[in-house]
Amino acid sequence: MANLGITTVGEAKEIRGMNLIAAHSHIRGLGIDTETLEPRATSQGLVGQARARKAAAIILKMVQEGKIAGRAVLMAGPPSTGKTAIAMAMTQSLGPDVPFTMLSSSEIFSLDMSKTEALTQAFRQSIGVRIKEESEVIEGEVVEIQIDRSVTGVFHPSSILPVGGTLLQIQLLTRQKGHKQGKLTMKTTDMETMYDLGAKMIDGLTKEKVMAGDIISIDKSSGKITKLGRSFTRSRDYDAMGPDTKFVQCPEGEIQTRKESIHTVSLHEIDVINSRTQGFLALFSGDTGEIRSEVRDQINIKVGEWKEEGKAEIVPGVLFIDEVHMLDIECFSYINRALESELSPIVIMASNRGNTRIRGTNYKSPHGLPLDFLDRVVIMPTYPYGPEEIKEILAIRYTPTPPAAGQSHFHETGLRYSSHLITTASLIAAKRKSSVVEVSDVERSYKLFFNQERSSQYLQEYEKKFIS
Ligand code: ATP
Repeated sequence: MANLGITTVGEAKEIRGMNLIAAHSHIRGLGIDTETLEPRATSQGLVGQARARKAAAIILKMVQEGKIAGRAVLMAGPPSTGKTAIAMAMTQSLGPDVPFTMLSSSEIFSLDMSKTEALTQAFRQSIGVRIKEESEVIEGEVVEIQIDRSVTGVFHPSSILPVGGTLLQIQLLTRQKGHKQGKLTMKTTDMETMYDLGAKMIDGLTKEKVMAGDIISIDKSSGKITKLGRSFTRSRDYDAMGPDTKFVQCPEGEIQTRKESIHTVSLHEIDVINSRTQGFLALFSGDTGEIRSEVRDQINIKVGEWKEEGKAEIVPGVLFIDEVHMLDIECFSYINRALESELSPIVIMASNRGNTRIRGTNYKSPHGLPLDFLDRVVIMPTYPYGPEEIKEILAIRYTPTPPAAGQSHFHETGLRYSSHLITTASLIAAKRKSSVVEVSDVERSYKLFFNQERSSQYLQEYEKKFIS
């Protein structure tokens, strides 16, 4: 399709993702005591908002114990009261294989696909399938390292349908004592590690400082390299060895052990790689288009079978929907139904609206959510910060803290405007070639850029001069 300058869902997610990371990069977790679930005053980058953090911690625990799938939580509070920050903190505490999807409601109204398709994809991205696989571990002496990329066909391990594409193929030349030089070929058909494997291997080889003469083991599915020791046979490398060098008898031939490995993919990823029209490369471009419902039905059946056979486990994750008041009545009815499905994540929504019109209707309701939907939602309020909390958040958020951060304008004007003030004041300081932000820089920025209150005052004063 020609590029018409339209932002696709994938691009929008990427841009939004970058903004979110930048805005919340100081947050490392919920900052709670793991035993009592009580929030610490300031911890892991989070300040105050104790009640919401405690509620989030309880929800998180239920998610981890698999007890809360198919429920919905609404974080309701004025702008800049940390709703997104708390959602991000929850992600960090979830553990690496519990899926977390972040969706801004405006992304739903894309030109690329229908609203319900966009929601279905977001729901299925938030459900993990933990697949158990047997993997092979290979041990041998490294004689030479060669990295090669070639193209070959790919079959998904679950073998629902074959798909084609590029596969990274990495070769280590090994030699076992008493054997000819052998070629050890690393291949993976596992979606998640496919592109990762090359990087991991190269990483592993350099991190472990693998060189010729080392005895190593390689997990064939994950690419994990473990250094077992040095070979007796390679005396010419002795100089390069450190005091901790462990000498091992070079194994008599290639040792292959079977061991169980577990990896988690999302239902959406399985959908995409098994969709003949899309193919798995769509996962990397982010442009997955619509997926036929037959593909999804087939996958649901297959995943159900794996579950029965003990080959897979369902991991309900979290779908975070920001600005939820932007969704319309059709979306709410979809979510209502989707929450009842057996394969549903926990849905956490955020809204900064009070009583507002439900999009697609002429009715007003709290947070713009239909009453029957509100009825099944747990509401977690967030409250505006006091001056001390704002000061503390700004001090954590901006390092080194500008000396002027303690000055009055910051906490008078709310968190978001204050952080804009810091940014613009530091630009003003940079312009006069100073690395230190002075009070005068903040004063200048305060005069140049209005907050909402002063902007409406200005409008009132000059109302007649504006075109209405
Ligand atoms: P909106 O309703 O406008 O979307 P929000 O409630 O989602 O706002 P955030 O975006 O989470 O607010 O907060 C604004 C900024 O303040 C972000 O950079 C966020 O990381 C930071 N922040 C908010 N609350 C806290 C907190 N309790 N501790 C540390 N940083 C915070």
